[in-house]
Amino acid sequence: MSMLVFLEHHGDELLKGSLGVLSKAVALGSADVAGVVMGFGVRPLAEQAAKCGAVKVYVADDARLEAPLPQPRVDVLARLIREKGIETVLFGNSVLAADVAAGLAARLEAGLNWDLADLVRQDDRFVGKRPALQDSVHVDVGWKSEPRIALFRSGSFDPVETGGSADTEDVTVALEDFSTSARMVDQAHEEGEGPSIEDAAVIVAGGRGLGGPENFTLVEELAKALGGAVGATRAVVDAGWYPYSTQVGQTGKTVSPKLYIACGISGAIQHKVGMQSSGVIVAINKDPNAPIFEFSDLGVVGDVHEVVPKLTELVKARKGS
Ligand SMILES: Cc1cc2nc3c(=O)[nH]c(=O)nc-3n(C[C@H](O)[C@H](O)[C@H](O)COP(=O)(O)OP(=O)(O)OC[C@H]3O[C@@H](n4cnc5c(N)ncnc54)[C@H](O)[C@@H]3O)c2cc1C
Repeated sequence: MSMLVFLEHHGDELLKGSLGVLSKAVALGSADVAGVVMGFGVRPLAEQAAKCGAVKVYVADDARLEAPLPQPRVDVLARLIREKGIETVLFGNSVLAADVAAGLAARLEAGLNWDLADLVRQDDRFVGKRPALQDSVHVDVGWKSEPRIALFRSGSFDPVETGGSADTEDVTVALEDFSTSARMVDQAHEEGEGPSIEDAAVIVAGGRGLGGPENFTLVEELAKALGGAVGATRAVVDAGWYPYSTQVGQTGKTVSPKLYIACGISGAIQHKVGMQSSGVIVAINKDPNAPIFEFSDLGVVGDVHEVVPKLTELVKARKGS
């Protein structure tokens, strides 16, 4: 069964989320897993995809694809999928990927299952697993026709390097008039040290219990000591204490790091749905009845201003830094 994975990049790196989806496609046992990279000057990215098991990488390298806009990508993908008769198209979630997947579903009148946490093969069918009812159950979802399009939740799969090489094939870039009417007027790159919240193995998140924006240094220092990223609740983002890009939850990002440390966070359901699939959840809260303790693996009842700096000190001492 032919599978195509949309490989998104930032600069000269393919996103970890895309590579994770590629590894999942390979693990499903399809002999025919291809990736597609689109942009300008993106040819060298094919090698990264080959390392994660792609046997073929389609390359659409064109100045008109330089801006990360969805419609030109839909044009290229729709043509490629029709020409090659591709049966399954997989995306790792991101703002761009979600737009492209939705546009592609509309263009090809194809079924799109989104927010999937997994994909399994049952006989000759694919079954998607979608978390529902505040992530308390997994619903089986399927497709009635081909191509089937799937959009996976961030962090669902880790990339697995298997080595190997891939054939590359250039793809025709022919754009519809209506696809070129949007123009990117500005693009800002957030400057920051350490991993992004989507890629981090460790997230230290701060909530209103920190008491003020100036106290975010506490979580920043702990995150730095652990080589992790900083997350935030909507309450603090709405209050202007921390940027929206770090918001975890229903209206923010869904993350699944190996370790999630929640500092001064009550554990509202809207926050929980964004982080509950983390490997180990540690909560530091002064209220022993805070809801976050109900779904934490480890809980510390205490004041973040006392506990967090001590924890940072201990981590630094252990690492000898
Ligand atoms: C439609 C909708 C969508 C939403 N989407 C999101 C979302 O995406 N993400 C999100 O996070 N929220 C979201 N919310 C908001 C959510 O309901 C909560 O209001 C929010 O998560 C609470 O943030 P918080 O835990 O920082 O603050 P609070 O609920 O005020 O909790 C602060 C916690 O800090 C503790 N605390 C106080 N002082 C200290 C101290 N010194 N030391 C230790 N602990 C202390 C308190 O005991 C308390 O438990 C959404 C709400 C709605 C209605």
